[in-house]
Amino acid sequence: MNHVANRPHRTLRTGAALAAAGAVDPGRIAEIDRVAERYSVAITPALLDLIDSANPTDPIARQFVPNPAELETAPGEQPDPIGDLTHAPVNGIVHRYPDRVLLTPLLTCPVYCRYCFRRERVGQEKALSETELSVALDYVRAHDEIWEVILTGGDPLMLSPARIAAIVAALNAIPHVRIIRIHSRVPVADPARVTPELLAALDGDKPVWMAVHCNHARELSPDARVACLRLAKSGIPLLGQTVLLKGVNDDAETMEALMRAMVESRIKPYYLHHLDAAPGTGHFRTSISEGQALMRGLRGRVSGLCQPDYVLDIPGGHGKAPIGPVYLHGDEVEDWQGERHEVR
Ligand code: SF4
Repeated sequence: MNHVANRPHRTLRTGAALAAAGAVDPGRIAEIDRVAERYSVAITPALLDLIDSANPTDPIARQFVPNPAELETAPGEQPDPIGDLTHAPVNGIVHRYPDRVLLTPLLTCPVYCRYCFRRERVGQEKALSETELSVALDYVRAHDEIWEVILTGGDPLMLSPARIAAIVAALNAIPHVRIIRIHSRVPVADPARVTPELLAALDGDKPVWMAVHCNHARELSPDARVACLRLAKSGIPLLGQTVLLKGVNDDAETMEALMRAMVESRIKPYYLHHLDAAPGTGHFRTSISEGQALMRGLRGRVSGLCQPDYVLDIPGGHGKAPIGPVYLHGDEVEDWQGERHEVR
């Protein structure tokens, strides 16, 4: 679906560049640039291709094209909504749960999502220096309860294959680290980065799992599906992370199409995140009861392979809690059609 007039070869970062590409009306340049002064902006050619600029409510544009509503911070919205910084013993590490840590080597992304929970930091802060990275790896080495290291950011696949290979090798050499997980939007936002060199960099002794962030079926373009296939053929299991977003995926048909497209792309839906309360994201927010209704809808419509866990990151850094619908009511359980049956 390419209604964009002039496909550029570079990532777009300004109102003028978006207007020149035909993605937005030139009358929006000033408002986009006002938002860009406050929050990072980037739209890759691959995602630009998916924007239907003739549709004022296009769900792809809504996720990536700046909106002046982002400059309004609602009560309850916080710069660090999931409390990363309250669990950061050293730069680049978030240690919230005993058996796993986040390692954030950089805060750069291929695209900047307008609802990002780290929007105050992504695209703004420098990557870890060699010294900081070495201190972060020392922290992992010193804590033998750490079973899993989750590389996130930012997007770790924005590093060169050589730097990724060095981090993967360092983690492979720590005996108590058994699992490496990578959170990325690259397979969707810039699938051309999934090269043989990248796959070689990820190929080590320990299992590498990848969580792919994807919010609409159209993001799984033919190129994105090829990228997923390459990763899967390299032995990397793929998990799906989706954020529930008003105007993007908050209706049953759209969510069903997304979940089916993920499974068809070899991605097992893992989490459906309730939107975190980052500043200027109110226009994306649904209620939890709306999210639960969507999950009930999915239960009745699609295979168990297509069911994610609906979760909320408890504000303040208290971790994730499942908030999906409840089917057990005392001595009765509900079936997928809403009928109750007695159980013992
Ligand atoms: S790719 Fe992830 S970290 Fe980067 S802007 Fe989007 S949500 Fe935020």
